[in-house]
Amino acid sequence: MTKRIMTDLVFSSWGGQVVDNRGLDPQAFEPAPLVHLPEFFKPDEKIKAFVGWDGIILRSADVDVVDLVKTYLEVVHRVSSDCNKCNYCTTGYAEMLDVLKDVYHGEASDEDLEFFENSGKAVIESSKCTIGKAGPTPALHLAKYFLNDLKKKNQGEAVGSVGAYYSKVTAPCMDACPIHLNVPKYIELIKNAKFADSLAVIRECLPLPGTVGRVCYHPCEQHCRRAHVDEAIAIRALKRFVADQEVTSEKQPEFQVNPSTRTGKVAVIGAGPAGLTCAFHLALKGHQVTIFEKQPLNGGMLAVGIPDYRLPQAVREGDIKAITDLGVEIRSGVTIGSDLTIEKLRGEGYQAFFLCIGAHECKTLGLEGEELSGVYPGVDFLRDVKLGKKIDLGNRVAVIGGGNVAIDAVRTALRLGSREAFILYRRGLEEMPAHEEEIADCRAEGIQVQTLVNPVRIIAENGKVKALECIRMALEAPDESGRRKPVPVAGSEFVLEVDGVIPALGQESDWACLGPECQCTLSEWGTVKVKPYTLQTDDPDIFAGGDAVNGPKSVIEAAAQGKKAAQGIDRFLNGLPLKADQEDFFDDLFRVIPVYDPQEEVRVPDKLERKTLSKLSPETRNNSFEEVEQGYSTKEAVTEAERCLRCYRVVTLSV
Ligand SMILES: Cc1cc2nc3c(=O)[nH]c(=O)nc-3n(C[C@H](O)[C@H](O)[C@H](O)COP(=O)(O)OP(=O)(O)OC[C@H]3O[C@@H](n4cnc5c(N)ncnc54)[C@H](O)[C@@H]3O)c2cc1C
Ligand code: SF4
Repeated sequence: MTKRIMTDLVFSSWGGQVVDNRGLDPQAFEPAPLVHLPEFFKPDEKIKAFVGWDGIILRSADVDVVDLVKTYLEVVHRVSSDCNKCNYCTTGYAEMLDVLKDVYHGEASDEDLEFFENSGKAVIESSKCTIGKAGPTPALHLAKYFLNDLKKKNQGEAVGSVGAYYSKVTAPCMDACPIHLNVPKYIELIKNAKFADSLAVIRECLPLPGTVGRVCYHPCEQHCRRAHVDEAIAIRALKRFVADQEVTSEKQPEFQVNPSTRTGKVAVIGAGPAGLTCAFHLALKGHQVTIFEKQPLNGGMLAVGIPDYRLPQAVREGDIKAITDLGVEIRSGVTIGSDLTIEKLRGEGYQAFFLCIGAHECKTLGLEGEELSGVYPGVDFLRDVKLGKKIDLGNRVAVIGGGNVAIDAVRTALRLGSREAFILYRRGLEEMPAHEEEIADCRAEGIQVQTLVNPVRIIAENGKVKALECIRMALEAPDESGRRKPVPVAGSEFVLEVDGVIPALGQESDWACLGPECQCTLSEWGTVKVKPYTLQTDDPDIFAGGDAVNGPKSVIEAAAQGKKAAQGIDRFLNGLPLKADQEDFFDDLFRVIPVYDPQEEVRVPDKLERKTLSKLSPETRNNSFEEVEQGYSTKEAVTEAERCLRCYRVVTLSV
């Protein structure tokens, strides 16, 4: 959906800017530059009005704003009642709703209407979290700009049409999370020392809490409002804490299976985060699921990519056990395409497929000498280490690339005994796609990152790597996308003596699993094409997701697609239409009306330091694959959870 400045708005108080076109000829409407309300919510449902944390927007004059705000307040009141930390919030909303009830019965006096407004103001002043600070805004705007409507309604007069309403509760961190974990809720439960309940909230969406609590790139933290005061909440670390609590307390997770009307037999191809999450959600709906996995270890890149010092095997295994305990079967060491085919599985009664084979084929450098012994592509190298192969690349190992795979490869080479393992990257440190924390960890271990260097050829001696000829690079001025193109500096070639070379330049998928019986089509980037919202491929019984659809991305994005695909497959097996649902439409809406405002000024009385996780000392970690990051103690976790501002945001729209 494209952003556009609206000129068809009858009223807007959004973003602190009031535009009131009521009673004017539409030709004379003043635009509302801060508002980008899309015309439609669903393809056939035009948005007539919208209320939320920042105000009221009307596209039509024929809207019963009182009824709309009442519906909104009912949702806000329900959300506020979950907390009970500062009672005035819940009480205040209840008082406001009581006044509106009186308005509907024609029993509200002018004092009551004043009380309505004062209750809203008092909620803002007295509450400690955002559901109290921002929640009353539309009610206050109702009292200020629509007092006549309130009075008319109180006198039994019509004030516009009552529409069909859609409401949504979100938060900046929830919205940023690809799987939309209810972050404020699980953090609130940690504050109240209800750790198992907190974990249950996470598992409503995500069956891999221990894993994601360790390796997630946490887009939620980039949209955390607490960072506007001091530092973002350590959301990922808190997730890890509750997952670890379950392990230490030796409790078994409990799940409620709610079978769909019709259940079926589903084959999931690939036991990575996408496949595991899809299988979990299908099993919760009573479907019979078998995962077919090519490798002897289950977990996809969790098992054969991410090194043990970031994700211990036992954590991955624990997360997967919870899924198999639900009845999901995993057949490891079975390659679809060679050991079995989709056609054969169809013959065995499988009614739907989820294709989530990841991206495990390493891209090549295209350089002379790449076939030499001593050249080990990054993902192959990490996989072979995880599978227990003996690898000796020698003392001086050059890893080529600037992404997370390069960082994991160089840190792994160091742990395997290479005394000097280093990175060569053709752009600058600022342009490195690897995450800041990973670069920092890598440097703390004494690993050198040589930037603005590109390899030109690999030099051999007796069929083995001997050296790497490189050239220095310079960065051109940024292009329209802001990216600075690296160009070689003429005459700057130099030779580095090396024993091993690890190219880590990205991965793509191997589509040998798709036989002639499959109608799926591939994109020009070598990913499989799927329909938006449902993840169905061009072959109706085959759905796809994860890196196989997006290219190499992240665990949480793969898991989110696994969950989405499970929804699509369940509908497919039940003969229901495959189309976008309400959550998808809200996702689209929040791309246009962002839940997170990077410019927002957030006022909180006290600054509170973020509790950072302790790490093994670089000397200890360089010699072992022991987990580097250590978890929170209970006290630390509760203290960190207490920093959360509970930034729930509610919207209600009328169509
Ligand atoms: C070294 C490395 C480190 C990473 N670190 C992080 C990190 O810290 N945080 C993060 O969020 N993301 C990280 N990622 C990315 C993340 O791991 C992936 O985005 C994610 O695992 C993709 O999940 P997936 O389920 O789509 O595919 P995968 O995890 O790749 O799983 C696909 C599975 O399908 C199997 N398969 C393939 N073909 C067949 C076949 N024909 N038959 C049967 N099985 C088949 C594969 O063996 C594999 O097990 C990292 C990736 C790598 C390579
Ligand atoms: S403070 Fe809490 S609720 Fe607010 S964005 Fe951060 S984690 Fe989410």
